[in-house]
Amino acid sequence: MILPQHTIEQFKTIIESSKRFIILVHTNPDGDALGSAFGWHNLFINLDKISQVISPNDSPETFSWFNDFDHLINFQKEELKAHDAFSKADVLLCVDFNGISRVEELRSLIENFNGKKLMVDHHPFPQAFTDEMISYPEASSTSEISYRIMCDLGYRHLITKQVAEALYTGVLTDTGGLNHNSSNPETYHTMADLLTCGINKSEIHDYVLNSYPESRMRLMGDILSKNLRVLYTYNTAYIFITESQQKFYNFSPGDSEGFVNIPLSIKGIKFCAMFTETTDHVKVSLRSKGTFPANKFASEYFNGGGHLNAAGGRIAGKLFDAMHLFEEGVRAYKDLLSNS
Ligand code: 5GP
Ligand code: MN
Repeated sequence: MILPQHTIEQFKTIIESSKRFIILVHTNPDGDALGSAFGWHNLFINLDKISQVISPNDSPETFSWFNDFDHLINFQKEELKAHDAFSKADVLLCVDFNGISRVEELRSLIENFNGKKLMVDHHPFPQAFTDEMISYPEASSTSEISYRIMCDLGYRHLITKQVAEALYTGVLTDTGGLNHNSSNPETYHTMADLLTCGINKSEIHDYVLNSYPESRMRLMGDILSKNLRVLYTYNTAYIFITESQQKFYNFSPGDSEGFVNIPLSIKGIKFCAMFTETTDHVKVSLRSKGTFPANKFASEYFNGGGHLNAAGGRIAGKLFDAMHLFEEGVRAYKDLLSNS
């Protein structure tokens, strides 16, 4: 990964001449968003800066073992604290998103922020809403780019255990455990170097992959047996989670992590979706194999976007509407999806 030298120099000047940092993740933050955010947060602390991570809404408990996670501000629950942090900060660093719509109500805080704005991200089609940005869509994850930037900035010696374990987790989760998006040997060099920073790999794998409640596994079983539809003509499948199942299985954000990928393990399936019902909208997650553009599909049908093989969006309405629209889209994409 070769990053633009000029932008690295700009990052360095901004970081070294500033004291207070806020780091912002996207709505419904995942392991990569939080991993890169806490990687930077702990690096800023090591640089003797004041740093604060802010999330637009709830974060999965899975990552609560990151150093200093208990100081994370949840904008939905602590709006005043978030406003205060924005008003005092010199620098805003946005990680793992590249469009201002991904942070919903926080949008105006970003637009009215008086300090310097930076972005580090790996999604295609970045919007220029920051002063400086490092966007690298070929990278496995924002956490891997963050590692590269830290090294290029001359901060490799500041990648302590607390920084490394967050970055390692980000790469691990965004590649599904080095399963997808990880064919570049550099990703393994990054992971190898992070392993030299004193982190406990088996402990991290246990925290991230083996710490779910029993109810999550029972929910998975229920969904796979009752809520799986396979459209063989279109090599497509989808699953859905109703609100009543969420209630019954005491669902919390993060419990459905990984569910969306399961239909792709059916032979021949190259496109799949997961629909999660909420009171006023349906959240849509899309995954594909090969060249099928999940992100194009997400933007055409579900007001969303994302990567070629992993995208998402949402639609106002009921589960039925979302699934109906999905099937309509799949039929429109017949030429790309069907074998003949
Ligand atoms: P997930 O299915 O894990 O929620 O999201 C997968 C990817 O889809 C994310 O990394 C993100 O790039 C993209 N994505 C998910 N939801 C949205 C959305 O509402 N809008 C946009 N633009 N992208 C989304
Ligand atoms: Mn990511």
